[in-house]
Amino acid sequence: MPELPEVEIVVRCLDQILSGRRFESAELRRQRLAPDITPKKFANRLVGAQINFVHRRGKHILFDLDNGRTLITHLRMSGRFWLLDPESSEPKFSHAVFELDDGERLVFQDQRHFGFMNVVETSRLFQAKELAKLAPEPLSEDFSDDYFRKTLKGTKRNIKALLLDQTRVCGVGNIYASEALFLAGVRPTAVSGAITKAKTVVLRESIVQVMNETLELGANIPLDRSNIGGNIYGPNSDGDWRVYGREGELCLKCRSTIKRIVQGTRSTYYCRSCQR
Ligand SMILES: [Zn+2]
Repeated sequence: MPELPEVEIVVRCLDQILSGRRFESAELRRQRLAPDITPKKFANRLVGAQINFVHRRGKHILFDLDNGRTLITHLRMSGRFWLLDPESSEPKFSHAVFELDDGERLVFQDQRHFGFMNVVETSRLFQAKELAKLAPEPLSEDFSDDYFRKTLKGTKRNIKALLLDQTRVCGVGNIYASEALFLAGVRPTAVSGAITKAKTVVLRESIVQVMNETLELGANIPLDRSNIGGNIYGPNSDGDWRVYGREGELCLKCRSTIKRIVQGTRSTYYCRSCQR
């Protein structure tokens, strides 16, 4: 599943390609992709609208339109966008297809059927139920030491679970949680409220650092119109994370063996000597 930096890279790519383009058609082929709206309303709210810009809130990708509406999309597990020229055939699992005014098609493909779309009034965008409860943006000033300390304070949940809770910390997924906890030297099973003030500061900085590393990498990848952010995952490509996916390998800091545990059905990787 893409995490916040990957989504940010997709957003930058979409914004670059689609700003100023107009939707000539908007075909919702899989009704449950947009459960709150009929295919007819979906088309009515989008056709003829020009895309002002593409931005995001958390992992939601937002198409700001010149008709006062915003198309909200979420890639979830396997969603991805394709930009196809008129000759190209559509990939399997094309669940939404948009014809653009330059003859190209924007296709939302979703093999595992977890993706999401909705069209809402832009004036009420941040009150939309998908966005209203999200925690502050992790790369903004709102995600401050003060905010993070208050969020952890008095909380009995383990820190890994808390990091994945989008209403507390926004945009961190399974990979970045393991990576940030390792960087900060915090045990993933630690009770959130028991983490020291000093460690809280380091952990918040580590979350920002691991996200920024991927964003910097993404900034250096040339724009590929046929593969919008599709191959970007992590600072050093697959398999080169600090701890994620490295069970049984040696810790990069202390040469101990990296452990894997399961927390809430998800794998967590950590070093027993570096993370206490
Ligand atoms: Zn270690």
